[in-house]
Amino acid sequence: MTRGFLDVMAAWDGESVVTAFDSATGAWVFVALHDTRLGPAAGGTRMASYRAPVDGLIDAMRLAEGMTWKWAGVGIRFGGGKAVIAVPKGLGDEARSGLVDRYAAHLVSLRGAFQTGVDLGTTPVDMARIGAISGHAVGLIDGKPGDPGPYTARGVLAGTRAALEHRFGEANFHDRSVLIQGLGGVGFPLAGLLAEAGATLYLTDLSEEAAERAQTRFGGVVIPADEIWDVDVDVYAPCAVGATLNRDTIPRLRCRIVAGSANNQLLSETDAERLRERGILYAPDYVINAGGAVAFAAIHEGERDETRLRARVDEIGSSLREMFEEAAAAGESPLHAARRRAERFLKDPDALAAGNGHGGPSARRPQRREVMRCGGGK
Ligand code: NAD
Repeated sequence: MTRGFLDVMAAWDGESVVTAFDSATGAWVFVALHDTRLGPAAGGTRMASYRAPVDGLIDAMRLAEGMTWKWAGVGIRFGGGKAVIAVPKGLGDEARSGLVDRYAAHLVSLRGAFQTGVDLGTTPVDMARIGAISGHAVGLIDGKPGDPGPYTARGVLAGTRAALEHRFGEANFHDRSVLIQGLGGVGFPLAGLLAEAGATLYLTDLSEEAAERAQTRFGGVVIPADEIWDVDVDVYAPCAVGATLNRDTIPRLRCRIVAGSANNQLLSETDAERLRERGILYAPDYVINAGGAVAFAAIHEGERDETRLRARVDEIGSSLREMFEEAAAAGESPLHAARRRAERFLKDPDALAAGNGHGGPSARRPQRREVMRCGGGK
């Protein structure tokens, strides 16, 4: 390892990174296990080209930490982990396919310490292959890749309902308008659920075709992507890209609630405070967008009953309701309440799970234990 690698490892507060070099392609594999107090680590596998391999390591560590908060935030007993395969530019299809097979064999050697799913640069077809070889892929239903989008959309609907109740005292979608930014795998089914609930829809997408397809199916008004800040709505649902909430956009927002699926909606944590100061209720992204993760974790454990899967996803609404109340009582952003709730769950999962009905992977309940950490401990 170069000095850069060692410095990066020493500065991280996660548990370990399992590293491999694939000599056939020149790819580096980093499986970052951030926090496994709740159970075996689970998170996506990202495949990308980086300026230097160490940047792939840093990405894996950052994303693994995000998974720790995501699982703990919704009370699921998985640990935080993420894998990055840092590939040379211009990797051909054949070389890529061999790499995926060897990566799957690498997961076998980890004996279940890391369960994985799709992330940027990997596909459901890759996951089916990884699952077939290793048995450690989540998101497969009888060996075939499932689509998390509709479950994620359902979680966003449940979270939006909780936000409406908190903000307006009742969750009646008939009097409410929602602007959905991004009508892809999540935004499209979300538009369907909201239309069914009676909400007035405003739809925007960089692809006019995507916005018009949703409008044809569910009704609503299509807004050009660069005009969304001028629309007066009850709910802004970012379902496209991250960092749309920042010091420039927040003063322009004309909504009462932000509730959407996009990852990393806030450019920085201080943007949560900016929203609160403007009286806009923010549903923390990693909680409200966890529907797909919640459903896939349950499917991984053998749950197949659609009604029970949906009920699990709907619990995201109850979790958010509690976070909104805790945040209001403390005079702070729900982002802080979400973090405290996740910390409480990490410290004592049994106490919290008993209270909220969340369970997750029950067969793997670990003994409480102390773990070695790379850098500064928690
Ligand atoms: P997707 O790629 O299927 O759809 C995204 C849509 O957003 C596309 O139609 C794209 O044209 C549009 N878009 C991109 N930039 C835009 C912009 N600036 N303005 C308007 N539209 C824009 O993605 P997805 O699976 O629907 O996921 C949406 C977001 O939710 C992403 O941030 C993703 O990371 C997050 N997320 C998704 C899931 C899931 O289950 N798919 C789960 C958790 C989080």
